[in-house]
Amino acid sequence: MAPAAKPVARLIDGGALADRIKAQVAVEVKALKTAGVTPGLTVVLVGDDPASTIYVGAKERTCIALGMRGDTIRLPATTTQDELLAIVDRLNHDPTVHGILVQMPLPKQINADTIVRRIRPDKDVDGFHPVNMGKLLIGERDGFAPCTPSGVLYMLQANDVRTSGAHCVIVGRSNIVGKPMAALMVQPGVDATVTMCHSRTRELAAHTRRADILIVAAGRAEMITADMVRAGAVVIDVGMNRVPDSTRKSGTRLTGDVAFGSVREIASLITPVPGGVGKMTIAMLMQNTLRAAAQLSASPLR
Ligand code: NAP
Repeated sequence: MAPAAKPVARLIDGGALADRIKAQVAVEVKALKTAGVTPGLTVVLVGDDPASTIYVGAKERTCIALGMRGDTIRLPATTTQDELLAIVDRLNHDPTVHGILVQMPLPKQINADTIVRRIRPDKDVDGFHPVNMGKLLIGERDGFAPCTPSGVLYMLQANDVRTSGAHCVIVGRSNIVGKPMAALMVQPGVDATVTMCHSRTRELAAHTRRADILIVAAGRAEMITADMVRAGAVVIDVGMNRVPDSTRKSGTRLTGDVAFGSVREIASLITPVPGGVGKMTIAMLMQNTLRAAAQLSASPLR
């Protein structure tokens, strides 16, 4: 008799979920267009960082595929902060622009916080403006939550993961992933109990082993090993790390913060990298842009 197969976690298919969100956005874009509003996202790219160039291209193409306007303003790496602020001001006042996204990282001569604070909060579809961060914390729903943590919450809910009363452990406390993720998980209706870990956390494994839901956004390749995960936990891997791999033509491969092969044998649900959280980020950006267009076009101040 063949030995019984080891139980392995079910995969959360980020690609399929992202497609579902985008299809819904496309339907709603059509309806807004009938009412005379074409949702529009303008991305500003400063310099020619190769990864940023790829991300920006994907955002523009996705907008257009869903029937929205997607533009990219490409600026040289020598652009000054004042020049970039002037462009943000112009976009803030342009009624055909509903979402503004300044691609990070920016060149050294530009202060990213100054730029983010200049974007109108009601066009800040990245959700990084302090007004949107504040709205997220106090639970005001007309703001924009950052796309990656919103995508993670969507993944949990779409897979019927019980969050109410669940112990959610988040590894990483960045402003773009860890902190907004914690804010989303504790909001009423989601109702998780959250532990946040970071590089100064003592005995990290003692915390991660208590997680019903473990969300990892540390940017450390495969740092979460099977011995750090409770049997049956739901594991969400936000990490995207490029590591050397001599078997690949490119010489590298993309891997997450979770040692996928071994953790898969312990967890009940797990996201792969690639094909997990990464796919959700653009889908949530499209959803935010659609909502920005709907809210702005309904506003009497426009
Ligand atoms: P980040 O700003 O570098 O923050 C990393 C966080 O992890 C920090 O809070 C850091 O702690 C913590 N950390 C680092 N090493 C640790 C360790 N050994 N033990 C415990 N905590 C540790 O990174 P980020 O922007 O949040 O991104 C995190 C990862 O997610 C990266 O791989 C990034 O590429 C990926 N990401 C993916 C998407 C997507 O769409 N899939 C989007 C955004 C980010 P300290 O604060 O103490 O330094």
